[in-house]
Amino acid sequence: MTHLETPPQPAPGALSPGTPGPAPVLPTASCPPGLSSAEDTHGGSLPSPANPWHTVLPILAVLLLATTLQLRHQGRSWWCACGGLDPVATDIWSPHTSQHLFDPYSFTHILHGVVFCGLLAVAVPRLAVAWRFAAAVALESLWELVENSTFGIERYRTATVSIGYIGDSILNSLADILCCSLGFALAWHLGWRRSLVLYLVVEAGLLLTLRDSLTLNVLMLVHPVEAIRAWQMPH
Ligand SMILES: [Zn+2]
Repeated sequence: MTHLETPPQPAPGALSPGTPGPAPVLPTASCPPGLSSAEDTHGGSLPSPANPWHTVLPILAVLLLATTLQLRHQGRSWWCACGGLDPVATDIWSPHTSQHLFDPYSFTHILHGVVFCGLLAVAVPRLAVAWRFAAAVALESLWELVENSTFGIERYRTATVSIGYIGDSILNSLADILCCSLGFALAWHLGWRRSLVLYLVVEAGLLLTLRDSLTLNVLMLVHPVEAIRAWQMPH
């Protein structure tokens, strides 16, 4: 921050004494520490650094369109076969689960965003948050494609409690990606300690109300435990 120790110099070509006109601009006087280099070192007005969101948002739009087309290609339907327009399905044992926009499992997708935010903060701390957000959305989109592939659906049916799973509707998948985005933004604003509390509270709430949660879901997909599956079955 050497410029802060340098006494202000008249700008080149400054008006001669006595000449009426605007006062000469003192260099760097209003430049906050840490944000100085572009104008100081080059002495001119450089274009400000590009806002990464201007690049990230169009990329995400294309990514979501590609995900939508790929889900359709994998045979997913757009919406629940019941045709009802209710945006929320509350009963996880009903055939409406994963077919409307939101259901109790939407909370696990919010937690996906929280986890991605934390992992990316550790893995690529120097990457702009816009690009980390893009990475989280890309990971969630990839997850939706795998979950809704023939392999993914079969795995859910055999290993977890989702016996009648037929894959998400496309709009449910897009809502899942939206939930993940919200989870990322939430975690970004909350910081890691409060995000950890949020994660534990949501997990506890899901366990108490559904006998399922993100952690159990992942465990049962990777390494099914029959005793847990029996406990999760409807009584
Ligand atoms: Zn329905």
